[in-house]
Amino acid sequence: MKLLKFKILKTLFLFSILQCAEAQSTAWRFSKVLSPTGEMMNNATVVVQDNHIVGIYTDDKSLPKNISVNDLRPLTAIPGLIDAHTHITYYWDKAPGTNPWRDADKLNPAVIVFLAQENARKTLESGVTSVRDLGSFYGLDIAMRELINRGAMTGPRLFIAGNGLHVSRHPIDPNYIELDPGKAENINEVMKVTRQEIASGVDWIKIYASTGSGDDVTSVQQYTYEEMKIACDIAHQAGKRVAIHSYGPEAARDAIRAGAESIEHATGLNREDFELMNRHHCTYVPTVDHNRYYIDHHDEYGYTPEAIKNMQAYIQRNLETLKLAVQSNVKIAMGSDALFTGFGENTRELEWFVKAGMTPLEALNTATKNGAELLGKEKELGQVAPGFFADIVAVDGDPTKDINAVIKGVKWVMKDGKVVVDKLKMKNEK
Ligand SMILES: [Zn+2]
Repeated sequence: MKLLKFKILKTLFLFSILQCAEAQSTAWRFSKVLSPTGEMMNNATVVVQDNHIVGIYTDDKSLPKNISVNDLRPLTAIPGLIDAHTHITYYWDKAPGTNPWRDADKLNPAVIVFLAQENARKTLESGVTSVRDLGSFYGLDIAMRELINRGAMTGPRLFIAGNGLHVSRHPIDPNYIELDPGKAENINEVMKVTRQEIASGVDWIKIYASTGSGDDVTSVQQYTYEEMKIACDIAHQAGKRVAIHSYGPEAARDAIRAGAESIEHATGLNREDFELMNRHHCTYVPTVDHNRYYIDHHDEYGYTPEAIKNMQAYIQRNLETLKLAVQSNVKIAMGSDALFTGFGENTRELEWFVKAGMTPLEALNTATKNGAELLGKEKELGQVAPGFFADIVAVDGDPTKDINAVIKGVKWVMKDGKVVVDKLKMKNEK
């Protein structure tokens, strides 16, 4: 009896080993693979099992037996990129007579989520496999995150912030009672709304702590230090992180002291502010490119020449602040602030980073390692290394020499072990 039991166990053991060996192992050969330390590994093969990287081999002899290798030479492999600031559920169908800002929430919520798949697809095509989405409405971001995690929708891994906390935005309409989730006008409401957002299942708390959005580039502080502090404390107790929107330096300064993990957009910060950010391990997400996007697409939004001038001036202030941040060694993450028709342009922010004094590799790191750290996922995302999620982007050229290899050269993208973009195949089939 004992012997039989042993035999059964042995058979089961062997069976599970065989199962493991067969468990969806794939191998992908590249001319170069960017190592976690920033050097290139030449002629390297990445082995993926299910949704994780299990090995990287530079000589064929050590490759696992009986594995067929997909040859992606002469492409270079880099980690799946992280866009630290998007609004992926802001979808606009370009219907004649409509305006993205005015009509974005007019469609049925389920229809918006369905159509926003286009934003998700374009994001993947730009090499971005993870996104921190900083502000949605109707719970659309929660729905999208769930659909993508279930595999029912193809898109980047989403870390979401629900309704950002904000003060009143609209005039009172006497004809109906306005439901405005996320609205918080005083410290008690800030506490209540922060807890509501956490209960809804957000990953991040977003606070609009100053004015400034679209063609409005003003920066009037709207939340006090005390209000931001209580929101940060509640979020941290629940294991969540906080992102603060601030167009100017005032709200940003209070946000850093309050314990926010990231400052979005802010201009006008000085060396002392950046030192404070370093001490508080706070990340700067400058989003310089989003005003370039608005200017290039001003017809779609109906922005006036006056507004364009203001946005151009804002870009200059933003770039100057970014230069100082680079000199101060502040942790910087790439965030596009993409919304509506901006998806697919997610990585153009990297151009500004190089312009501000980063090397191409440093710029790339903002969208890999720094983004992963900001998300608290530095052991899972942002590196092509064993144990990490199999999020890999293959580009034409060497992005450590020319950042355009990332911005314009994405040819193939794997997310979670699945090929989600294959421009090579598309080309072959033509
Ligand atoms: Zn934003």
